[in-house]
Amino acid sequence: MLNIEREECQRDMKEPIVWEAAVPDVTIDEIFRAQGADYSKRSPRPKVIELNQRILQEAAGLVRPTAIWQEVRISGSGEQELFLENGLKLTSKLLARVAGIADNLILMAMTIGSFLEERIAEYNEAGQMLEAFTLDAAGSTFLAKSSVRVFEQIEARYKAEGMTATFPLGPGHSYWSGLNDVRVIINFLKADQIGISLTETNLMVPRKSLAFVMGVGRNLPDFKGKTHCDFCSLQKTCNMRKLGEKCS
Ligand code: SF4
Repeated sequence: MLNIEREECQRDMKEPIVWEAAVPDVTIDEIFRAQGADYSKRSPRPKVIELNQRILQEAAGLVRPTAIWQEVRISGSGEQELFLENGLKLTSKLLARVAGIADNLILMAMTIGSFLEERIAEYNEAGQMLEAFTLDAAGSTFLAKSSVRVFEQIEARYKAEGMTATFPLGPGHSYWSGLNDVRVIINFLKADQIGISLTETNLMVPRKSLAFVMGVGRNLPDFKGKTHCDFCSLQKTCNMRKLGEKCS
C-alpha cells in the first residue's frame, strides 16, 4: 500500500488533494527492464551492475513523488467524449467506452519532481551518457511504480464506499489522440502547485510527470482485468508495460 506521507487537503472534493508519497522500492531488474535490456539469457557484466546500483541509489535520493487529484462529476458522454461538470470535456473513444457510465471521474497528475532531471542534464553536460541514460530509466521506473501505488490507494478509498474504479488511462498514449487533454487535466487540478507546468505543445515539465483519469461508480463495465496497455499499439515493444500497466 502507498505510504502517504502528507495529505495537504481534506477530501471534500471541492479542492484538489495533494499527496506526498513515500519513495517506492525499485529493483535493479526493474531498471534493466525500463532500459529495454534483456538479461534472461546472459548475466549483465559486473561493471553494468555496479553502474546501475550506483545510479539506482542516487535516483532514490532525488525523487519526490507527489500526486494531485480530484473527483469530478460526469455530466454526459458521447461516442468519443466525456462531458464533465464545469463545462470540461475530454475527448477519447476509449475513455467514453471505459468510463461513459461511471458516476464520477478522478483527474490525477503526478510528478517525481525536477531534481532527477537536473542531474540528468549535469551528466549529459559532462559527457556521462551512460549515467544519464540509466538515471532517466530509473526516473521512469520510480514514476511508474509511484503512480501505480497512488491509483491503488485511490481505488481502496472508493472500494470502502462500495464503489469500483476503472483502470487508469490518460492522454499521451497511443489510444488517446493528441495532448490537448493534458492541458485540461493539468489546468483543472492547478497542478502547478506540485510543480508541473506545460510547454506550448502540452508537454509536461518536469518530463517525469503523468496526467491520468479513472472512472469511479457502482455499476461500471467489467473489463476483465484489462489495463490501458491492452488498448495501446505499443504494447508489444514498450519497456514500461510490465512496470506500469496501470499507468506508466
Ligand atoms: S504499452 Fe507502454 S506506452 Fe502503451 S499504455 Fe502501456 S505503458 Fe503506456
